[in-house]
Amino acid sequence: MTKISISKCSSYHEEDVQRAVNQCLEDLGGLSSFIKEGNKVLIKPNVLQARKPEEAVTTHPAVIEAIIIAVKKAGAVPLVGDSPGGLWLSLGKHWKKTGIGEVCSKYDVEIVNFEASGVYEKQINGNAYHITKPVLDVDFVINVPKIKTQGLTKFTCAIKNMYGTVPGLIKIEYHKRATNPYDFSRIVVDIFAITKPNLNIVDGIIGMEGTGGPSSGDPIELGMILASADGVALDSYICHILGKDPLEVATNKIAYERGLGEANINEMEILGFQPPVRNDFKWPSNIMNLLPSFITRGMWRIIWQRPVINSDLCTDCQQCIKNCPVEALTSGVNIPEFNYKECINCLCCIEMCPQKAISLNKSLLARFVTRGNG
Ligand code: SF4
Ligand code: SF4
Repeated sequence: MTKISISKCSSYHEEDVQRAVNQCLEDLGGLSSFIKEGNKVLIKPNVLQARKPEEAVTTHPAVIEAIIIAVKKAGAVPLVGDSPGGLWLSLGKHWKKTGIGEVCSKYDVEIVNFEASGVYEKQINGNAYHITKPVLDVDFVINVPKIKTQGLTKFTCAIKNMYGTVPGLIKIEYHKRATNPYDFSRIVVDIFAITKPNLNIVDGIIGMEGTGGPSSGDPIELGMILASADGVALDSYICHILGKDPLEVATNKIAYERGLGEANINEMEILGFQPPVRNDFKWPSNIMNLLPSFITRGMWRIIWQRPVINSDLCTDCQQCIKNCPVEALTSGVNIPEFNYKECINCLCCIEMCPQKAISLNKSLLARFVTRGNG
């Protein structure tokens, strides 16, 4: 049976989070049963954008702090690193705004710059991927995702969080290889397989729901910390308690079929708190996830979705232009302009807009098909 430990935690107060993280680790046999004294341990949060902790876009610093304390207590050396979306010469703003930088300074923990550490080229399933070196050089990786919806893959947690080990704009390049959500999920799983974390600790205290996830959805109280050595099992179990068949999420299905972890709820042993299954979680409503691409392609005149910019919110920062993999966005008079003929609906522009200024506009028929989803 695959072990998942869960601890109730309804606030980000340091003591509450430390108690919950420690309980989860103890239930799994203690962190010392995973790591040895002197090991270099990379802690990989989700730092998608430079956003404040209360916006629920990034892993909360209190969770990172609790893990740093536990790693140090086990006699190992913690490091922290991530590569946000977009191209950034310095990530100082990201670490500062998310509060993770302050926690690292407090405990004298090195922040590793994934963008400037070089890459290893790794082959898997006939595809080559560039992965930042520190992730593969350290002795142990602790993946620390947050529970959020994701427009393209429906869900982002342990599996998708490892996509941030691909530095800078290479992430955008990989979007070009996949013109539908299932193909992109395969790429996400390839990267998870290459970087497979040794332990996963999930910030499930406040997650994000709705079509705007992972950056402009709605924060939702979930009230727990979860941990497991099996990231596929964690993602699958979380989907289950959020009212979704785990195998309806492509990253879970592909990872399970490749033998990267468990997705069968009956094969999981839940230690600690057993959360009830809820039916009020808002999943994203992306037409590309609900209909096969041959239907959306063949009926594009009547069934379509496209990103649109709210000019009242847009600051013309041009992040969306920089993050579009197919150059479907260009500078406009006051705000960027879309070339919808080029757009592959990857939703990167929505994900990377710091102002929540981009949303999905849908045709009447697309709205009808996606009704009840998000
Ligand atoms: S839509 Fe968002 S990302 Fe694009 S220019 Fe406006 S504020 Fe920036
Ligand atoms: S315009 Fe937005 S959704 Fe379309 S391809 Fe570019 S980033 Fe993706």
